[in-house]
Amino acid sequence: MTGLDIFKLLPKTNCKKCGQATCLAFAMALANAKADVGQCPDLSDTARETLEAASAPQITLVKIGAGPNETQAGNETVLFRHDKCFVNPAPLAVLISDKSENPAAETLKANSLVFDRLGQMHGINLLAVQNHSGDTVVFAETVKVVSENTNFPLILISEDPLAIEKALEITGAKKPLVYAATEENYPAMTELSRKYNVPLAVKGRDLDHLAGLAEKVAALGHRQLVLDSGARSVRQVLADQTQIRRQALRRFRPFGYPTIAFAVNSRDPLQAVVEAGVYIAKYAGIVVLPSADPEVVLPLVTLRLNIFTDPQKPAAVDSRIYEIGSPDDSAPVLVTSNFSLTYFCVASDVEASRVPAYILPIDTDGVSVLTGWAAGKFTPERIAAMLKESGIEDKVAHRRVIIPGGVAVLSGKLHDLSGWEVIVGPVESSGIPAFLKRRWIA
Ligand code: SF4
Repeated sequence: MTGLDIFKLLPKTNCKKCGQATCLAFAMALANAKADVGQCPDLSDTARETLEAASAPQITLVKIGAGPNETQAGNETVLFRHDKCFVNPAPLAVLISDKSENPAAETLKANSLVFDRLGQMHGINLLAVQNHSGDTVVFAETVKVVSENTNFPLILISEDPLAIEKALEITGAKKPLVYAATEENYPAMTELSRKYNVPLAVKGRDLDHLAGLAEKVAALGHRQLVLDSGARSVRQVLADQTQIRRQALRRFRPFGYPTIAFAVNSRDPLQAVVEAGVYIAKYAGIVVLPSADPEVVLPLVTLRLNIFTDPQKPAAVDSRIYEIGSPDDSAPVLVTSNFSLTYFCVASDVEASRVPAYILPIDTDGVSVLTGWAAGKFTPERIAAMLKESGIEDKVAHRRVIIPGGVAVLSGKLHDLSGWEVIVGPVESSGIPAFLKRRWIA
């Protein structure tokens, strides 16, 4: 809705109770998502309902799991990443069958899949236990084993409400995703999901059927939903995902939920990566993988990282003291920028020198040293403040700091501000090993 559309629904008394000078100012703030409908206490019920519906997210945020490993999907607002950004990186789930000979070993293998990318840890997010056996007791036992051996939230896959009920008795408190409500079982599945307050996947036969089924489940009072059109060929899944996202952004309510896609057509790792890669790019909320093999998961977490990184926010590390090796009070102190790529280049070159050292990345809002210098973010003032406030003065007995060679011009003022002797390091970080051996050790 535009600001003027919203204004027409307001009381127009300019009473200021919302914190804005006029109703028009409040309407404009609401249109720009800088105010909340609840701030105006004098709205009519009809106006409040209309405005709340208009300001609700196009795609509901769905949370799976509880505690620190809770994962979420939804809340997306665009069809194309370059329009703004994608918000919630699609959680990756690894499938474990209740016919597995050793579900505990499969669970532990999935737990161990953690990859360090630019200082951030990435891996899978969910484990999906599937009732292949058709036996409710076997399913419940497998869910118990998996749940006891992992902190990942679960997806419980069975179309048998009895099997889901038994599994929820074991792991309901961990808030798993129940998969799936179908035309045949949706009243029972919805009731169970509501009883345990857990999200529910809705599986249709095609898009039309899915829309109708999602409406029926929502009408029963459950709105933490995940959508599956039922398609399994890559071509059809891609078409359905695209259509669901497109309609959701047009506020077609039955499709206003995140989706789930299964890349389990083949055990061939390359095929699984290709399928899952397509679904991560367009537009799965959750992607289920056939195995926890590193050759499947690593390319996908890398792809996901690229797609879900906000292009307007450079990757940055925290601005604090980093220790390379076991530095003592005579170790060198190097400053650089907090742009991830710059920091990790410097860190790996310091590591290669085998000289234990301290690195202080200055907060440049994630831009490189020279860009930061040109933008007034890599300045003598910021470096001097970091030397004073970071605690480095308590860690070293000397007062000598090494700055990047490209910003040698900062040395005089930095010395005046900090009192530290300023040593100009190499222009390129690749020169650090030779520089430290020549200038520091000598
Ligand atoms: S509280 Fe409501 S009626 Fe009062 S100024 Fe704000 S929008 Fe207008």
